[in-house]
Amino acid sequence: MAATIVDGKAIATQVEDQVRRQIAAWRDAGHPSPGLHVVLCGDDPASATYVAGKARASERVGIRSEVHRPPADSSTEELLALVGRLGGDDEVDAILVQVPLPPQIDSGRVLDAVAPEKDVDGFHPVNFGLLAEGRPRIAPCTPLGCMEILRHHEVPVRGARAVVVGRSTIVGRPMALLLTNADATVTVCHSRTADLAGVCREADILVAATGKVDMIDGSFVKPGAAVIDVGNTRVGGRVRGDVDRESVEPIAGLLTPVPGGVGPMTIAMLMSNAVALAAARRGLAVTGAA
Ligand code: NDP
Repeated sequence: MAATIVDGKAIATQVEDQVRRQIAAWRDAGHPSPGLHVVLCGDDPASATYVAGKARASERVGIRSEVHRPPADSSTEELLALVGRLGGDDEVDAILVQVPLPPQIDSGRVLDAVAPEKDVDGFHPVNFGLLAEGRPRIAPCTPLGCMEILRHHEVPVRGARAVVVGRSTIVGRPMALLLTNADATVTVCHSRTADLAGVCREADILVAATGKVDMIDGSFVKPGAAVIDVGNTRVGGRVRGDVDRESVEPIAGLLTPVPGGVGPMTIAMLMSNAVALAAARRGLAVTGAA
């Protein structure tokens, strides 16, 4: 039997609906909407598109979003000053620094300067450390989206064998931590893993986050496995994933397509994270999954 194909857009819409209801409930009780502030520095067209998408999503759910556009020739010190000012502004609940930053900027210093309690991307070392300790405050949006897909489709995670291919700080590592925290038995693979296909074939849950188009084919997949394809690589005007759908679909139990699988979840989870940060800072109750 062919795999169930995940409709990431539909799940993302449900998450956004939940976020919108939460914000409306807060507003009805006299609380302000969460404030999300984005720092967009430089002329990277892909970054501009992502930021526009985040602004549109904020508008849909009722988040007050503001984009700060320091000039492309800004210095590290200038960005540190901006990020520091946002950190100290009580109106600001969530801060996102869009990467990549221009080459003259020390990105690490700028990202580390984001106030951890306003770090909506969950990239700050304090938040990463809390996630690693199993007491997360906030987690990166793309792996959170993958967890939400598994939850939505009622894929058993506790006790399952999970394999994550990729160990980046944005996707692979936090994905492995989220699965570990949810009681899966997790193996992290990378470019030096021996017998990658053999390791992947042990997985009940297989997450591919390499950026290598079609590298996961049917020979990597255990029959019935849930296969989550995070890959998002532009090839000749098309977005392609890491998973070779043609050979995997007849074997897997669940499969996220590219596009339309994990991609739409990332922005939805960003909205959800902004709500979670606002709730924590302002001592507000969160109802449901938002
Ligand atoms: P990175 O390039 O930072 O990391 C890629 C990882 O894949 C590395 O750990 C690398 O191993 C591993 N890898 C590369 N080649 C192989 C191979 N042949 N076999 C096994 N492992 C391999 O990428 P990101 O984690 O940032 O992103 C991964 C993919 O996810 C990209 O396609 C990206 O566009 C996509 N993405 C999608 C998002 C979405 O919203 N849908 C959001 C973020 C990312 P090593 O560490 O040894 O080099």
